[in-house]
Amino acid sequence: MAQIIDGKAISAQIKDELKQKVSDMKAQGKEITLAVIQVGTDPASTVYVGNKKKACEYIGIRSLAYELPEETTEQELLSLIDGLNQRTDVNGILVQLPLPAHIDEDKVIRSIAPEKDVDGFHPQSVGALCIGEKGFVSCTPAGIIQLLKRSGIEITGKECVVVGRSNIVGKPMALLLLRENGTVTVAHSKTKDLASVTKRADILVAAIGKPKFFTREYIKEGAVVIDVGIHRMENKKLCGDVDYDDVAPVCSAITPVPGGVGPMTIAMLMSNCVESASMQW
Ligand code: NDP
Repeated sequence: MAQIIDGKAISAQIKDELKQKVSDMKAQGKEITLAVIQVGTDPASTVYVGNKKKACEYIGIRSLAYELPEETTEQELLSLIDGLNQRTDVNGILVQLPLPAHIDEDKVIRSIAPEKDVDGFHPQSVGALCIGEKGFVSCTPAGIIQLLKRSGIEITGKECVVVGRSNIVGKPMALLLLRENGTVTVAHSKTKDLASVTKRADILVAAIGKPKFFTREYIKEGAVVIDVGIHRMENKKLCGDVDYDDVAPVCSAITPVPGGVGPMTIAMLMSNCVESASMQW
């Protein structure tokens, strides 16, 4: 029977550890502040932003909410970020993506001061990860490393296959697994004979955005399977990129959807906020 990697429990554990740290910081008169910016009223973004604010409240981080109208100009947003970059009482800045089409996302990401880039999307943060320097790491892949470590899964020397090469999941995931001494392969939509590549994996990370794509034909017996995908099916239930019912019987450990990778993203965002404050003080 496969070990079910419980992202909900692990994320709760991390949040409780952070809550204690924040309370210790407060006792020394230090308060952490995260600025959260949302442009427009995309319902999914509103839910994500709400969850981030709730997590801040639980841990004891002050959150400043900027809910800007859809027609906000790029210049207005950049000016707001510039002001927040200058403020010594603001430790982290988060701009909820996606932004409306008239705003250049890359430009906005680059405008955030790297020491406040708690999402880890700034090119300086990505570069630091690449050359093994200290910096913020994109929250979803950072959360997956925590899931593996806290479930007692060894990465060193393992064949790790990451399917997906996006800047926020696939690429940083590959770099993190490499940092943890895994032997890493990155596959993508142009990979030939994908199943022969994924069948080599001791640890498989599926991040392609295709519901229930990975069936047991893609999995080596006894592999650890991490499912990053999240999709709402017609029956309203959530599923991942992995066909859980088909794969679970052949793997040694697997993340469910929901309750696997998802809850870790916010926990790692909170962890980055605490780190940002520690770095600035
Ligand atoms: P992107 O769409 O940015 O990237 C998808 C990647 O998958 C691309 O590199 C693409 O290859 C590759 N791909 C697509 N189809 C195939 C295929 N048939 N075979 C092999 N590779 C394929 O997605 P993201 O990385 O942003 O997200 C991936 C999934 O993770 C989504 O379901 C998303 O909702 C979910 N997600 C979940 C999070 C969470 O907190 N749980 C957070 C972030 C994302 P190519 O580069 O060649 O086009």
